Amino acid sequence: MIRPFSEPIYVTRPLLPALDELQARLGDVWKTQWLTNGGEQHEQLERAIAARLGVEQLSLFNNGTIALLIAIRALNLRGEVITTPFTFPATPHVLAWAGITPVFADIDPVRLTIDPAHVEALVTPKTTAILGVHVYGTPCDVDALSGIAARRGLRVVYDGAHAFGVRIDGRGVGTFGDATMFSFHATKLFHTAEGGAIACADAGLRHRIERLKNFGIAGQEEVEGIGLNGKMNELQAALGMTVLAHVDEEVARRRELLAIYQQRLGRIEGLTLMPQLPGVESSCQYCAVLVDHARFGRTRDEVHETMKTYNVFTRKYFYPLCSDYESYRDLPSARPSCLPVARRAASQVLCLPLYGTLGADTVQAICDLLLSTRRAS
Ligand SMILES: *Cc1c(COP(=O)(O)O)cnc(C)c1O
Repeated sequence: MIRPFSEPIYVTRPLLPALDELQARLGDVWKTQWLTNGGEQHEQLERAIAARLGVEQLSLFNNGTIALLIAIRALNLRGEVITTPFTFPATPHVLAWAGITPVFADIDPVRLTIDPAHVEALVTPKTTAILGVHVYGTPCDVDALSGIAARRGLRVVYDGAHAFGVRIDGRGVGTFGDATMFSFHATKLFHTAEGGAIACADAGLRHRIERLKNFGIAGQEEVEGIGLNGKMNELQAALGMTVLAHVDEEVARRRELLAIYQQRLGRIEGLTLMPQLPGVESSCQYCAVLVDHARFGRTRDEVHETMKTYNVFTRKYFYPLCSDYESYRDLPSARPSCLPVARRAASQVLCLPLYGTLGADTVQAICDLLLSTRRAS
């Protein structure tokens, strides 16, 4: 018999180093009396993360959403941008905030990332870019998207909020396309409580991004462009430096837990775990599983509800599709019949608990519980 867990188990928990490690860094901040606008902690973190991600140009931000918005403005995108509906609301919202019409393309059934063939079919004279999302850290088909962009004269921007540390054949995922956003929100693998970054290949673009993230200030008496405040402060950066020192351990622990999920759930009829693509180093950001009602015998919603009664709070992440939000559902590209793969994924997906302190025994028990939902009523 399976008993409910005594404490609620959520999908994630933030990586929290020992408090005295953070206090030591905060002591340094207090000594400098410098709290924001590119202080010492900020400089250290920017360099450390650029090295860790294997990118040339990196700009830290107060959160990932503002980072993506600034990148889109710095690239001067307009008109239509083709993106995926299977993502967090921030992805289409930044397009709308920049005065751009999001155009939703369907997704690939294996990667769950934007489908290049569908992207190509949606290009119009108004299209200026493709905005792909490396969902759960699984990279988009970056080669196919670059090919389309080159043929059609488009920019490529990535929402890499889930893709911290992902590498494709050893190359940092943030080196593909014109710019890649990373989120350092508390729910992400590496975090600064709230925070984010833009990686880009071009020093000129980096310069425009830096200016736009600081109100457009170009000199003491000069403002160029309509900027915002996107700066990461010293307290966030100090937290980031202490968290970064523990990210490798966190990834190693998550990798062990993912191996247990894979072993217990990987060959079960009606369950599909996210693919391990050849040559791709994973971020271990999420453990997502697709539940096929016909073959598993239970719907995703039934599994979600049953697990909740045992104190395990899985997440339907991403449900609903962004194309079903009130703000976007009247767009021609949002028609459900145009997005069958995304629609199916949104109805089947469930994110299972995954964080370093979760423990192997707990993951085993979560698998027991999930598998028992086939029989439970
Ligand atoms: C977390 C997340 C964001 C937003 O990042 P913030 O740092 O919270 O602003 C954007 N896109 C995706 C896919 C995310 O998961």
